[in-house]
Amino acid sequence: MMSRFDHAARLLNLNPDLYKVLRVPNREFTVYIPVFMDDGRVEVFTGYRVQHNFARGPAKGGIRYAPDVTLDEVRALAAWMTWKCAVVNIPFGGAKGGIICDPAQMSQSELERMTRRYTAELIDVIGPERDVPAPDMNTNEQTMAWIMDTYSMHARHTVTAVVTGKPIDLSGSRGRREATGRGLLFVVNEAVKKLGLKIPETRVVIQGSGNVGGTAALLMHQTGYRVVAISDIHGAIYHPQGLNVPEVIDYLATHKSLEKYPHAEQISNHELLELDCEVLMPAATENQITSQNASRIKCRILAEGANGPTTAAADDILEQNGVFVIPDILANAGGVTCSYFEWVQDRMGYFWKEDLVNERLQDVMVASFGDVVKYAETHNVNNRIAAYMLAIDRVAYVTQVRGIYA
Ligand code: NAD
Repeated sequence: MMSRFDHAARLLNLNPDLYKVLRVPNREFTVYIPVFMDDGRVEVFTGYRVQHNFARGPAKGGIRYAPDVTLDEVRALAAWMTWKCAVVNIPFGGAKGGIICDPAQMSQSELERMTRRYTAELIDVIGPERDVPAPDMNTNEQTMAWIMDTYSMHARHTVTAVVTGKPIDLSGSRGRREATGRGLLFVVNEAVKKLGLKIPETRVVIQGSGNVGGTAALLMHQTGYRVVAISDIHGAIYHPQGLNVPEVIDYLATHKSLEKYPHAEQISNHELLELDCEVLMPAATENQITSQNASRIKCRILAEGANGPTTAAADDILEQNGVFVIPDILANAGGVTCSYFEWVQDRMGYFWKEDLVNERLQDVMVASFGDVVKYAETHNVNNRIAAYMLAIDRVAYVTQVRGIYA
């Protein structure tokens, strides 16, 4: 994050005072969370919330539960949220949170107690006007419902807009679950048009088949793309003529793995990344395209569904090879855009039909794609640096106008 930020700031000729303000988070919290475990012991978990920037509005960002969460990781993710919200021009700053824990080893009631205590510790610094959390790795709609309820207990009234990614029946938004995958479809459609490709002849390879990859695969298939390969953590499946995506997703739901899927060739996650295709969509995890394999990536369009799937060292190689990159802070911003819609609907108390949500999502993603590509062409930089420059420029502008460092 910092190496791209520094690169973009240099090219922008960012005022040194603004550089000093924007390169660090606004504030960081570490909380120690005592939890009664089911066996009667008390465990003390460490949790973080980093609020990177508030210049454009309340901070926004997910909460992840994982054994390897670190403060540095949360810092980077919080900054990414600032840039992502600015790229799609929604009125939020950036934040991120996490708790060091192993959710696979915890019961639902232990997770609930931990979540409620974490929320109580952060009660003064989160809120609809302050900082609006959302799900991230190993947190979900249920986690958001617990946070909303705990916050509401303290506020003494129901406050739905304190988190997004809630269940639809608990003031969530229609279309939120599919929004990141749908946003990817919209930006890939734009890139395909721009490069003069034809949808039925466009082969798509997707790493990951979870919320982002699985949804994108289904939507791309419905739109007429030829999805030729998809993976999960155990491995990938490949069919050069195109996979029957709905069948694959059903298979995955039943068998929890693609390993023995009968109607395609089994390949590895590494082989998947290097397949001949027009669109490669890494939608699993970070650091998948590195200086080690970037020269063997054969796609025309790289649509980054995951956060940080490409290392900074790989960027130059992809650029030399003419790969059209739709960078993560643009490509996967459909999720936070729909979270913004959820926050708006909660504050209005009036909920939109799914068609309207999707139409507004399309408007934002198409306009943002256009902004980034135009910026890249005008300033003769690649799309990733353009997205950073555009975002930093927008945040720097409001920081200056507000006089935040006065
Ligand atoms: P998920 O847990 O639903 O799915 C992850 C998928 O990746 C699964 O198919 C899993 O098997 C696979 N996977 C996990 N680790 C892997 C590894 N080391 N190698 C290969 N495959 C692996 O998660 P998700 O919500 O789909 O998120 C995927 C990525 O997209 C993450 O980087 C996340 O931060 C990012 N993202 C998600 C959203 C969202 O709305 N869910 C929004 C923006 C960005």
